[in-house]
Amino acid sequence: MSNLSEFFGSNVFNDAVMKERLPKSTYKALKKTINEGLALDPAVAEVVSNAMKDWAIEKGCTHFTHWFQPMTGITAEKHDSFISPTSDGKVILEFSGKELIKGEPDASSFPSGGLRATFEARGYTAWDCTSPAFIKDGTLCIPTAFCSYTGEALDKKTPLLKSMEALSSQAMRILKLFGNTSAKNVITTVGPEQEYFLIDKSMYDKRKDLIYTGRTLFGAKPPKGQELEDHYFGNIKERISCFMKELDEELWKLGISAKTKHNEVAPAQHELAPIFTTTNIATDHNQLTMELMKKVALRHGLVCLLHEKPFAGVNGSGKHNNWSMGTNEGQNLLEPGSTPHDNAQFLVFLCAVVKAVDEYADLLRVAAANPGNDHRLGANEAPPAIISIFLGEQLSDILEQIENGGATSSKQGGELKIGVSTLPALPKDSTDRNRTSPFAFTGNKFEFRMVGSSASIAAANFTLNTIVAEVLSIIASRLEKASDFDSEVQSILTEIVKDHKRVIFNGNGYSDEWVEEAEKRGLPNIRTTVESIKALISEKNLAVMEKHSVLSRVEMQSRYEISLEHYIKTINIEALTTLEMAKREILPAAIKFTSELAGSINFIKSTGIAADISAQSELLTEASSLASSLKKEIGILEDSVEKASNLHGDTYSQAYFYTFDVFKKMGELRAAADKLEAIVDADIWPLPTYGEMLFKV
Ligand code: ADP
Ligand code: MG
Repeated sequence: MSNLSEFFGSNVFNDAVMKERLPKSTYKALKKTINEGLALDPAVAEVVSNAMKDWAIEKGCTHFTHWFQPMTGITAEKHDSFISPTSDGKVILEFSGKELIKGEPDASSFPSGGLRATFEARGYTAWDCTSPAFIKDGTLCIPTAFCSYTGEALDKKTPLLKSMEALSSQAMRILKLFGNTSAKNVITTVGPEQEYFLIDKSMYDKRKDLIYTGRTLFGAKPPKGQELEDHYFGNIKERISCFMKELDEELWKLGISAKTKHNEVAPAQHELAPIFTTTNIATDHNQLTMELMKKVALRHGLVCLLHEKPFAGVNGSGKHNNWSMGTNEGQNLLEPGSTPHDNAQFLVFLCAVVKAVDEYADLLRVAAANPGNDHRLGANEAPPAIISIFLGEQLSDILEQIENGGATSSKQGGELKIGVSTLPALPKDSTDRNRTSPFAFTGNKFEFRMVGSSASIAAANFTLNTIVAEVLSIIASRLEKASDFDSEVQSILTEIVKDHKRVIFNGNGYSDEWVEEAEKRGLPNIRTTVESIKALISEKNLAVMEKHSVLSRVEMQSRYEISLEHYIKTINIEALTTLEMAKREILPAAIKFTSELAGSINFIKSTGIAADISAQSELLTEASSLASSLKKEIGILEDSVEKASNLHGDTYSQAYFYTFDVFKKMGELRAAADKLEAIVDADIWPLPTYGEMLFKV
């Protein structure tokens, strides 16, 4: 690449392009709209759309699309060409302001959770001008929000944008109280670290489970796993390195600042981290990153697996959601300051997050829930299903001092009078070493580590933004009425620490002791997706989303339904795939193997030589008995699936049955099949093994 700085963002209608191509007044008006969240003037839209079209056509585009993020978790696009016929049988290329601002895709085939009656299938997409338009595959893509005819959100972007507004207005109240008069708004930022697996396409093609479900439903443990710890940060193989280079280039063209890439813990596992940006743009970028990972992998004869747990017994993949808040002037509100005043402000924002996470742990938990993540959370490799916060020793010590701040009996009490004393410097490194915490403070941001690798990060972020906005609003209301500001800050912080220190935990989150300890502390331990989904309709959570206009009660209810339905469908597909593979591939292989053994036994016997055939006989007995268990398990799973699909009516009970019956039985069937894999002739076994998939890349 000759000139990276020119190349970067070359397919984005970004600020530089707008500056160059828009009349000054239009540029100014658009910037004002973007920065201050105002409504867009149609006259401005007309000029912008024209400039956008010219730019896109110069770059070889023929089509445009409103690019949106329905509840499927992936992105959707419907392409329209720029052509408009003229009376002389020719065409002109057109793209109006109206087409830029608003689209009307048919919404009937997207999950709506009952929000959209079938007779009214119309949905609307509306331009989100805070995320820049870009070019993908010769199409101008316009990031949009997606809602129903009656205005309910049918996507993940709408609540995210609303939550950013909510947090900004509440955080601004706090900043004003601390005397900040220059900041215009507060922006939530995120840098999501994305984990993924790459395997050879020829092996992927032989596995129906990977094709239909994204994860292996069968597979015996290979002789070598990740025990040598030789993959993490290890040399990157040439083929993978070529993939990574090309991926970086594709991402850079789209203005996605892919920064770090390395091998992860498991064999064939890797990670990519971008530089952080606003939660809205980062969410769009993460969706594009996942899409491009899959596309670019195919060009290299590889398949990118984004599932949370493609291989049992091998580390799964997640997404570390590094989150913070900052002013439009660039001040990071979670960065400790150097003056007593700055420190007090920092502690208010920090403690607001602590309180929010403790009070709305269930909402955060469901934001990270999906069927794939059920394999990880609480499984000794990923954070536990219990939400706790890691603050590091020093910060925890500071909070302890705050808790005892007023008490004269405390030795350190007087040291930390808010607004008077200075915090000790907090070295950034000291806080980043705990890898087992689901929610860790890492110096100037929080890292929410529960999010699944395949999931959109929108829910994690709109949840965080909203619950922190809520706590900030409570704090602001108290401070606005306070006669002695410093002492009110002190008592608010003391209260928060007293009430919420139970959520702070600096120890090993993977240990059994923590599970016990957390239970004593009264922290919820929600182990499954199904159980976590309930949080979407609890009164406390409905109220907070409604209060900050992020999601209405109706919208929350619809998301509850959508999540349950998605869960049911996913496990149902997994169960049907398990059955198909067991019946048509694995059992036949076992039968072939036993027939060969039986043939060998008969053949040797027929020679009349008194050879020792105990190896064949013992194997035959073992394989036949495993085949018979497998056949039995097939019957059991079939019954379970049938029962599940007949459980109409209450979606929750049906989903619950899928978790605690169907899913469990899939595991039992798998156990029998995996035992067979360990003894059946490798030439007969129909599936690429774990060893082949993980090491032959
Ligand atoms: P660490 O080593 O502490 O994990 P890194 O600098 O490697 O920190 O950052 C990890 C991720 O966190 C990156 O994606 C980075 O862009 C992101 N990040 C850094 N600062 C912030 C911030 N203020 N807000 C959101 N994300 C951030
Ligand atoms: Mg990190």
